[in-house]
Amino acid sequence: MSAGGPDPTVGWDADPGVAWQEFAPLAGDATADVCVVGLGGSGLAAIGDLLDRGLGVIGIDAGRVAAGAAGRNGGFLLGGPAQAVHEFAATFGADVAVAFYRETLREIDRLETLLGDDVILRVGSIRVAGLPGRGDDDDDDHDDDDDDAARQRELADCDAQYAFMRAHDLAVERYDGPLGTGLYFPRDAAMNPVRRAMGLAARYGARARLHEHTPAIAIRPGRVETLNGVIHANSVIVAVDGRLDALLPHLDGRVRTTRLQMAATAAVDPPGRAVLPCPVYANWGYDYLQQDTAGRIVAGGGRDRFVDAEWTADQRPTAPVQAWIDGLIGRVARAALIDAPRVTHRWAASVGYTPDSRPLVAEVDRGVVACGGYCGTGNLVGPIAARTAVALAIDGAAPPPYFAT
Ligand SMILES: Cc1cc2nc3c(=O)[nH]c(=O)nc-3n(C[C@H](O)[C@H](O)[C@H](O)COP(=O)(O)OP(=O)(O)OC[C@H]3O[C@@H](n4cnc5c(N)ncnc54)[C@H](O)[C@@H]3O)c2cc1C
Repeated sequence: MSAGGPDPTVGWDADPGVAWQEFAPLAGDATADVCVVGLGGSGLAAIGDLLDRGLGVIGIDAGRVAAGAAGRNGGFLLGGPAQAVHEFAATFGADVAVAFYRETLREIDRLETLLGDDVILRVGSIRVAGLPGRGDDDDDDHDDDDDDAARQRELADCDAQYAFMRAHDLAVERYDGPLGTGLYFPRDAAMNPVRRAMGLAARYGARARLHEHTPAIAIRPGRVETLNGVIHANSVIVAVDGRLDALLPHLDGRVRTTRLQMAATAAVDPPGRAVLPCPVYANWGYDYLQQDTAGRIVAGGGRDRFVDAEWTADQRPTAPVQAWIDGLIGRVARAALIDAPRVTHRWAASVGYTPDSRPLVAEVDRGVVACGGYCGTGNLVGPIAARTAVALAIDGAAPPPYFAT
């Protein structure tokens, strides 16, 4: 976690468009209607909801705003659950899957209304079955039989997703272009996640008491103990995705922490060249890349290649995963017939996974509700879960069936 302000390892933080703001640590005991632990995209959404209800809120973060995954992710705003919507439907029912999908699309609209179309870029997204070339060997740019068979399986899955989405009136088109073959989702969007978090913090910071560098060390009904003082509150919302199991050990087994890694490059050469028209993901979503408005490629992936090593709460990038990400960048550069741009930033962060892929919204103690476990896709699902946590804590409203409780 950085001490404050931009982190030199994180590519998104180098964006001159981020409006940095600092919030003083808590200084002594305090009282509010609700305490929100975690100032990522989810915690900030909970705070916005609580303010709209006229409640007094204190929000705290162990580091700075979006010190965790909320400021270090791929910046994809994809409709639907972590699993592709047709797979989620096969387990939880089509009605549940479609309702969840529509709620994530509404979340993009909400963010665009709150933050504007220069933060939330309505560019759509592309899912391709594999990327051109193999990427793990610069001398071998050609597919072998295994690659081809894997691509055919993924193409068949794209067909199944297309059929499901069309049958349920969810926007999807076929994609066939330089990056491969798959699907285009016109309603999806992209963002610099730090811009989103700082934008929300600036918006709510005047009405809620926000405190950075204030780690919660014990969370109990009616009180959150921090290194800086005790916060007394009727309700507590714990909005922490990665390492939630460490903060609330009784959730161990219901949510498990893993590491995801990314890298960012210098702007591509020639300047202004659009290598990636929008966020693009391949290999069942494990590999993902977008090009930001400055022309830099921001890429992540490789977790499926190093599954065991990545089940860790360590947040440092590693050489094997970073080499895989370098390969991804090389592959899209070769497909665009340009030299691979130089990698300038490498980073990693923690996220939570759940056994059945449904995000968790659970009352863990009287008046204490936790949300997390977004299985790598919490940019939209996290805020929805956080507002669901607020509804559970304040109104006693049961979460919809697309959440594990
Ligand atoms: C590399 C990577 C790429 C990803 N790509 C995407 C993507 O493209 N699209 C997408 O939808 N999702 C993506 N995700 C997942 C997404 O980033 C997360 O699910 C989401 O950001 C979680 O946000 P959050 O606010 O719930 O939690 P977090 O970001 O985990 O925020 C929790 C906050 O709580 C704070 N905190 C932790 N412990 C304490 C404590 N004891 N006291 C006080 N504060 C504490 C942390 O400092 C942190 O700021 C990605 C994640 C990673 C790591």
